[in-house]
Amino acid sequence: MPGPTRPLIPDAHRRTVLRAAVTTLLLSVIPKGFAATDSRVVAVRVWPAQAYTRITIESTAPLSFNQFSLKNPERLVVDLDGIDLNGELQTLAGKVNADDPYIQQLRAARNKPGTVRLVLDLKTDVKPQVFTLAPVGEYQHRLVIDLYPAVQNDPLLAFLDDQTTPPTPAAKQPEPAKPAEPQTKTTNVDRKDLKIDRLITVVLDPGHGGEDPGAIGPQGNHEKTVVLSIARKVKALLENEPNMRVVMTRDDDFFVPLGVRVKKARAVQADLFMSIHADAFIKPDANGSSVFVLSDRGATSTAAKWLAQTQNDADLIGGVKIANVKDVHLAKTLMDLTQTATLNDSMKFGNAMLSQLKQINRLHKNHVEQAGFAVLKAPDIPSILIETAFISNPAEEQKLIDEGYQQKMAQSIVSGIKAYFAKNPPLSRTKLAQG
Ligand SMILES: [Zn+2]
Repeated sequence: MPGPTRPLIPDAHRRTVLRAAVTTLLLSVIPKGFAATDSRVVAVRVWPAQAYTRITIESTAPLSFNQFSLKNPERLVVDLDGIDLNGELQTLAGKVNADDPYIQQLRAARNKPGTVRLVLDLKTDVKPQVFTLAPVGEYQHRLVIDLYPAVQNDPLLAFLDDQTTPPTPAAKQPEPAKPAEPQTKTTNVDRKDLKIDRLITVVLDPGHGGEDPGAIGPQGNHEKTVVLSIARKVKALLENEPNMRVVMTRDDDFFVPLGVRVKKARAVQADLFMSIHADAFIKPDANGSSVFVLSDRGATSTAAKWLAQTQNDADLIGGVKIANVKDVHLAKTLMDLTQTATLNDSMKFGNAMLSQLKQINRLHKNHVEQAGFAVLKAPDIPSILIETAFISNPAEEQKLIDEGYQQKMAQSIVSGIKAYFAKNPPLSRTKLAQG
């Protein structure tokens, strides 16, 4: 992820400028009042994944659409208005893989003048979401068709179900008291036992995905691909640890909004959140690993928003149901305390990570940096963002795509996590949160 103070790769910018010029040229030769096909499809893409399959139709002007579902067999029909069935749109059917989890096949045909009908024959009952996106970066207007399973098969939910069954070595442990129950039941429980019994949940967040490639190296390697590969290696290593569980915000090549990444971490009550990226800069010699935590300013501005949200969904912040706190001033104070403690922990986590990373790579900066990354904004989960290396640097790009180096990076990340927990056992954080 190019940081907020770091410009995007200039290539992308140049393309956008060029495209704008071409668009202007095209618009000037289209006669006025010519409305039957005021948009033209320029690209179509299909992103199949277990979590959801996304179809993207990119066009020169926004598309209007109508959608409806048909049963027996399951079909989704999307009518695209103001458009013609051109060669690009015709390639869409061929882009659906036989192993797509949701789509059996797709047909595109001219329905009536200026309307193209897409018929998706489905393998299973789906919850479709069809929406448009305004131009961003090098993309023009996009119409997106997301197919979610009607019955959730999100690995995250599977994980949550799993969490509700007691862990195997816990048979001799007393049932932990629910927060609302009187605490007397737990007073005779030895803390050491609790510590052993407590599973640590680490959330790994491979940056970008799907439509969003992240930074692109001089050889054309995508950030989204290398960070997913590194995250998978970290997961495999952490799962060897008896007391750790790992959840990935994405385990495939699909797009996950930043807010959803944070929500997933909170849904599993993560003890740590780690976003994994590869850096980019205009100058190809920029190099080294970096670690970021949320900036104080980012944290402060989030507090108010978060507070407003938690007032509604009765979220548990710092062991106190903020929604039940009538005094807004008190609620804000509790919120600030929680966030300060979390940022403190994030900083410790970041430092532990840096001292491991410097053993395998040069550090871009010798200290933990701070920035307003949205993905770091969970107020009660220590969170860091790692820029593993610069994918824009030819030598580091070469390292990043190397399986051996990825494994070394993964081992280093795991050592950082273990070093952090060795000094900051999860129980202390729980105690703080309940204090
Ligand atoms: Zn990134």
